[in-house]
Amino acid sequence: MKFEALKTWLPEHSENLGLIAGPCSAETEEQLLSTARQLSAKGVKVLRAGIWKPRTRPGAFEGIGVEALAWMNTAKQETGMLTSTEVANVKHVYAALKAGIDILWIGARTSVNPFAVQEIADALKGVDIPVIIKNPVNPDIDLWYGAIERISGAGITKIAALHRGFSSLSKSVYRNDPQWQIPIELKRRLKDLPILCDPSHITGRRDMIFKVSQKALDLNYDGLMIETHISPKDAWSDANQQVTPTDLSKIMDKLMVRASTSDSANFVESLEELRSKINNFDNQIFELLSGRMEVAAEIGKIKKADNIAVLQTSRWDEIVRKAAAKAEETGLNQDFIQKVYAQVHQESINIQTAILDED
Ligand code: PEP
Ligand code: MN
Repeated sequence: MKFEALKTWLPEHSENLGLIAGPCSAETEEQLLSTARQLSAKGVKVLRAGIWKPRTRPGAFEGIGVEALAWMNTAKQETGMLTSTEVANVKHVYAALKAGIDILWIGARTSVNPFAVQEIADALKGVDIPVIIKNPVNPDIDLWYGAIERISGAGITKIAALHRGFSSLSKSVYRNDPQWQIPIELKRRLKDLPILCDPSHITGRRDMIFKVSQKALDLNYDGLMIETHISPKDAWSDANQQVTPTDLSKIMDKLMVRASTSDSANFVESLEELRSKINNFDNQIFELLSGRMEVAAEIGKIKKADNIAVLQTSRWDEIVRKAAAKAEETGLNQDFIQKVYAQVHQESINIQTAILDED
C-alpha cells in the first residue's frame, strides 16, 4: 500500500504535528462559525464537525445533515480552514464531495463493517481526497487493517489511521480503552501510514485530553483530532469531552512534540549502549523461560506417572502471592507482573496437559 506523507495533505499545526479540531457535531450555523473563527484565530487550520451522527440509541440528536454542509463551506470561506467530516455511507460521501469537504473520515461504527467500508471505497474510486480511518469499535487490528486496505484499494493514497480507543466490558477511567499496543502494531506493519490520536473519544472527559495527547506524542503519533466547542457544556453531543478553543490552545502549548530520531553522537552512542543491555536481558529472559518450561514438562511427566491433575490451585495461589510480594520488593507494577505470571502459568499448564494427554 502506498501512503503519502501526512504534511502533503494535512497542514502542520506545529512542526511535525497535524491537528484537526472542531465540534463533535455541527449544531447551528452560529455555533459552527464562532467555533471555527476562534479556532482559526488560535492557528488551527483544519476544522472538524459531525454532520451525520451515529448514535447508540434512536431519538438522540442524529446530526443536522446536508444543511450543515453549507455552514462548513461558510466557515471555510471566512477562515480559510480546511473542512472535514464523517461519512458512514455512500449518500454521505456524495453529499460531502458535492459540498467540497476537504477531508473525510470513517467512524468507528463504520470501520467495523467491511460491507460499509467497501461501498465507501467504491464510491471514492478515482477521487483524490484524503480519508482518515478510525479504529473499529472492537479491538481487532485486522479489521482496522482491512478497512485501510479497502480505501487504499480504491486508489486513495492520502490516508491516515485515527486511534479513538476500543469498547470494553471492563470498568476503566477511559470511555474507550486505548489499548496502545494495537496502533503500535499497526504502525509496525505499515511503517509509512500516518497515525493520529483522538483523545476526546478515548477519554470521554476533557480533563484527561492533555495526558492522552502527550502519551500519543511520546509514541510518535503524527497528529491529533480534538473535539472543540464554543460552549462545551451546552453541546448537543459529547458535552463532557469537548474543550473550548482557548483550552485547546493551552493544551497545544503545553504538549511536547518528540523527535523520532536524533543525530547527536552522544544520544546515538548512549542509546546503542542501553539497547545492547536490553538485548542481553532479553536473551536471559528467553533462557530462563525455556529452562522454566523444561522443568514444567518434567513435572508433567511425574504427574502423569502418578495420575495427578495438572492444576494445583494451592500451588498457583502460592505463585501469585510470591509474585505480588516480589513485585512490591522490586518496584515492578503489580498489574504487569500478574499478567506476565498468568501467561507463564498458562503455558506451563498447556505443556503439562499435552504430556498428560500423550498416548
Ligand atoms: C466523532 O468523531 O464524533 C465520532 C462519532 O467518533 P467515533 O467514530 O470515534 O465514535
Ligand atoms: Mn463525538
